Amino acid sequence: MYGFVRRDIHSSVYKAVSKYLLDNDEDWRKLSPNVASFHLMFGERNKLQFGRLGHEPGLIQLVNYYRGSDVICRKTALVRVFKEFYTTSAKPIPKWLPESFIICPKDIAKSMESAAPGARPLPRRVSKPDERKDLLDRSTVLNKTSKKPVVWIAKSSSGSKGEGIKISPDVSELVKFIDQQTQSFVIQRYIDNPLLLEEDRKFDIRCWVLLEANYNVYLYEEGVLRTASESYQHENLDDVTSHLTNHCLQKELSANFGMYEEGNEMFFSSFDRYLRSKFRVTLDATILPQIKEIVKTVFKIVKERISTNFLGYQSFQLFGFDFVVDDELMVYLIEINGAPACAKKLLPDLARSLVITAIDPVFPTHKVHTRGYNGFHKI
Ligand code: ADP
Ligand code: MG
Ligand code: MG
Repeated sequence: MYGFVRRDIHSSVYKAVSKYLLDNDEDWRKLSPNVASFHLMFGERNKLQFGRLGHEPGLIQLVNYYRGSDVICRKTALVRVFKEFYTTSAKPIPKWLPESFIICPKDIAKSMESAAPGARPLPRRVSKPDERKDLLDRSTVLNKTSKKPVVWIAKSSSGSKGEGIKISPDVSELVKFIDQQTQSFVIQRYIDNPLLLEEDRKFDIRCWVLLEANYNVYLYEEGVLRTASESYQHENLDDVTSHLTNHCLQKELSANFGMYEEGNEMFFSSFDRYLRSKFRVTLDATILPQIKEIVKTVFKIVKERISTNFLGYQSFQLFGFDFVVDDELMVYLIEINGAPACAKKLLPDLARSLVITAIDPVFPTHKVHTRGYNGFHKI
């Protein structure tokens, strides 16, 4: 008999996983959220006290986050990790990570000093990275094909859902914008020649990736394209719904939401049909090998930093990888989410697959042979 605790009541994925365990496996029971003695914990990502795990003698504990995974899930940290790794190994950063610079608002320190009276000053880091000089050196570069200035996108480090994003070829304008903000940003090369769907619509791809307890990496076989519901505006970079494909932005701001695909979601089988009819290629042969290579490389780079080797507990984590594809079918990594939601339609299958791949091997139960479909494939 095994016991699990569910401390994160907001996660739809772990709600589905708990339900799956309770409905399908009499070897699992749910414990009160605050007990200290459990086998499995679905924790609250930002409040997880990793230091308190793994101290129960004779008890293996498994938790659904890797400590330190923020090094790939915060946008500035991801850039830093890549720059450090490739500088150390004296190799160029792979082309699939769009050229990126970390920019720290000039007056962050000032705004800390002028915090509300009595507020405790935030501890100062030794030095906040700022690469505005390197970026400004690149600001006169022209796009090789269009011969126009390269376009850049500014994204806040911990922002999400397309909030606070600005796109422009004018680097000084972007830096000025960031100087008015209160957190570090990434300024990244904007992929301005995206592959477009019917009606010239942009999209990004969300893949679900599972890192299990032994640091094996699995890609979920179904993925989803989040599509724009307006046609792409090469010239008008302020046209949010043509450039940013986040579900909530499209839903909120586009009158055409849901007009081309239900919920602006296109699944892999439809995308494969599109690629076959338009380019005579398949998803399997063109896009997926690039995605797998990117995912594997990311986890190779951060292995030392996040692996649980030698710790008293084990981890697994589901990640949401976002990609953009250009008009030559080259795939770029845009960001990694550490607590991704899942398309509703996929949730029950994803939950079952997660149990089979990440939980069963650590805590085998009688049900293990009858669990059926598993969408995670080791890469
Ligand atoms: P968020 O956490 O806000 O979702 P993303 O990095 O995923 O941040 O950016 C939001 C959207 O902006 C993406 O879904 C994509 O449509 C677009 N985008 C982000 N970065 C780029 C880029 N470098 N080139 C082209 N489009 C991008
Ligand atoms: Mg995000
Ligand atoms: Mg995103």
